[in-house]
Amino acid sequence: STVDVVVVGSLNIDMTARVSRHPLPGETVQSTTALTTSAGGKGANQAVAAARLGARTALVGRVGADAHGDSLLEALRADGVDTARIGRDDEVATGTALISVAATGENSIIVSAAANARLSPDDIAGAGPLIAAARVVSLVLEVPVETVTAAARTAHAAGARLVLNLSPVTDLPAEVLALADPLIVNEHEAREILQRKGFPVPRDAVEHAVALLGVGARSVVVTFGESGAVVAESGRAEHIPGVPAEAVDTTGAGDAFAATMAWRLSQGDALAAAARWATRVGARSVQHPGAQPSYPTLDHVLSGSA
Ligand code: ATP
Repeated sequence: STVDVVVVGSLNIDMTARVSRHPLPGETVQSTTALTTSAGGKGANQAVAAARLGARTALVGRVGADAHGDSLLEALRADGVDTARIGRDDEVATGTALISVAATGENSIIVSAAANARLSPDDIAGAGPLIAAARVVSLVLEVPVETVTAAARTAHAAGARLVLNLSPVTDLPAEVLALADPLIVNEHEAREILQRKGFPVPRDAVEHAVALLGVGARSVVVTFGESGAVVAESGRAEHIPGVPAEAVDTTGAGDAFAATMAWRLSQGDALAAAARWATRVGARSVQHPGAQPSYPTLDHVLSGSA
């Protein structure tokens, strides 16, 4: 393989306000700082996180032919991500996320998909040779289901390992879930998936991950914020403890986690070993504001620097 990780997914401009607490319906809350604009989107975040750790990484996606699209592509290139398969769309804007971050570090987000909604199975066909050269293909659900399905099929046919971050939760063909190795979701997403399938509510973290194996994935990783993650395969589960961190902004922690999984799996790590790396990178990312700006280099991770 000539590429470690190919990410198929979204690119968004993140517009972030910091608030003492999130607004209730009908309420107005003042931002406590000036609005910041930074590069985000689950697909782009994963690509940057993986590349910063040293993975040879490419991103398949779509942006508008606007200034936001320019700055997203620039950010990706600055981190060495291959952007050759990122299309530009004349008719729609670049995706945008409106993020509010509360004093606790917890975020609340509105996403306008825009160009991300135009990423098509044809784009996947065009990226066929790139996907065929990848060890791991990582998918997120901020792009259309038929595109995710096409990417999963193409990756499988080429012998690439599939990492599926089912975020936001979306109904997928059973065939795609069956290829996920692992399926990665956070605690809330895990609950939503199990609820939709009519499964009983799990009592603890380990039960969440084991129950999700029942939806058909080859392996499962459920993230639990500061508590870390649970990995499950072949009916067995293991808790990977969180790495203590002073959280200032958790935006993009899940993407950093998924990207680290993809990178370590591309290097031959077992699931639990990859998840141990991912909790370290996730913890590092919550200690700095923003999504992509908060991601560490391999040196940062190895030296344990904040
Ligand atoms: P987000 O939506 O904020 O990007 P998420 O909800 O998808 O994140 P989380 O489970 O909150 O996912 O976080 C992903 C991983 O990041 C966790 O498994 C953990 O390793 C790390 N992490 C998140 N929050 C913290 C924290 N407060 N302290 C230490 N590590 C954290």
